[in-house]
Amino acid sequence: IRKLAEVDPEIAKVVHDETRRQEEGLELIASENFVSPAVMEAMGSVLTNKYAEGYPGKRYYGGCEVVDVAENLAISRAKELFGADYVNVQPHSGSQANMGAYMALMKPGDTILSLDLNSGGHLTHGAAFNFSGKLYKVVHYGLTRDTETLDYAQAAALAKEHKPKVVVVGASAYPRTIDFAKFREIADSVGAAMMVDMAHIAGLVAAGVHPSPVPLADIVTSTTHKTLRGPRGGLVLSKEQYSKTLNSQIFPGIQGGPLMHVIAAKAVAFREALSPEFKVYQRQIVANAQALAEALKRGGLRLCSGGTDNHLMLVDLRPKNLTGKVAEEVLGKAGITVNKNMIPFDPEKPMVTSGVRVGTPAVSARGMKEAEMATIGAFFVEALDNASDDKRLFNIRSRIEEFTRSFPLYASRLK
Ligand code: PLP
Repeated sequence: IRKLAEVDPEIAKVVHDETRRQEEGLELIASENFVSPAVMEAMGSVLTNKYAEGYPGKRYYGGCEVVDVAENLAISRAKELFGADYVNVQPHSGSQANMGAYMALMKPGDTILSLDLNSGGHLTHGAAFNFSGKLYKVVHYGLTRDTETLDYAQAAALAKEHKPKVVVVGASAYPRTIDFAKFREIADSVGAAMMVDMAHIAGLVAAGVHPSPVPLADIVTSTTHKTLRGPRGGLVLSKEQYSKTLNSQIFPGIQGGPLMHVIAAKAVAFREALSPEFKVYQRQIVANAQALAEALKRGGLRLCSGGTDNHLMLVDLRPKNLTGKVAEEVLGKAGITVNKNMIPFDPEKPMVTSGVRVGTPAVSARGMKEAEMATIGAFFVEALDNASDDKRLFNIRSRIEEFTRSFPLYASRLK
């Protein structure tokens, strides 16, 4: 068998260079993680060759008896992990999980009530340029100005006024614990369904580090690749009553053949997530976020809502007179990867922003702990304090390379 480097040296170089980039840099993008070699092995397997439209035992193709085992394992492990009655592991992404859930709960033209994008919501929660904003009427709740936390009173008032079909809960950039019981009350007060998109916090929920939405929500969606540390993909959980409609909305409603190699990798990730070490890892993510938050505050930065309860924080850069766009570039030069992000009531445009979003799932997966977070925080602040000094930024970069060498990731793959 010819190796990738012989068949396609250009792509082999991309894989090599990206491995190096991940190995030598500090990955602080809150939605990213590093999967285990076992998850990667399942993903890069012959299972990618198999068509398996349908569900285990009820396929539209022959020869599915082997991949059925993988899908059944993924389903039963996810049920155990989250205590769910029904699980669908076929969504190719978090966006498709959300689309499937909306289709199961609503018709086009119905109303959703959700957190707006600029307050930390996701595109699929009704942004005007996303399918969700085109197919449904959208009403948004937001954050309170004083605490920069979810405005439950506003959500309750908007629910009364607009009578949404679905109350959507969940966020891409919210650093605090979400009170799912309050949203259940709000949904019940107007006879709405409650859908929770727990993509960002799924790992914390699995480990009991964040309260679970599963007992309260009608449908819960997630990605599998963020804190959960699985392959890129989506997941839907629900009460038994939605099982039939959800199955048919995902396939054949919005997807064709499931990605069996990814489903097998999801099964591996769920097995890992059921282990005691996973709980330790998730607790460390939160402890690390708190340690990093303290280090950034010591360095003169402001954190939206004052800090974090979960795996991420929103850093307000205005004390340093920097925008998110500039800070993302500056930190990138120093070997620290983050994404610019709107802060609550941001005066800047979405392509500029006043903030960056910072998360600890990936650095925690490398085995870094509170002491390393203090070091990372110091690198971070040093870079921002020397934003226009390229020489200094490259010097930080070489110190970070040295620092990350003690936390090897996929180093054995670099030849
Ligand atoms: N939901 C939330 C809350 C997210 O943060 C994301 C990812 O950014 C998604 C859904 C979408 O996931 P995907 O990128 O897999 O479509």
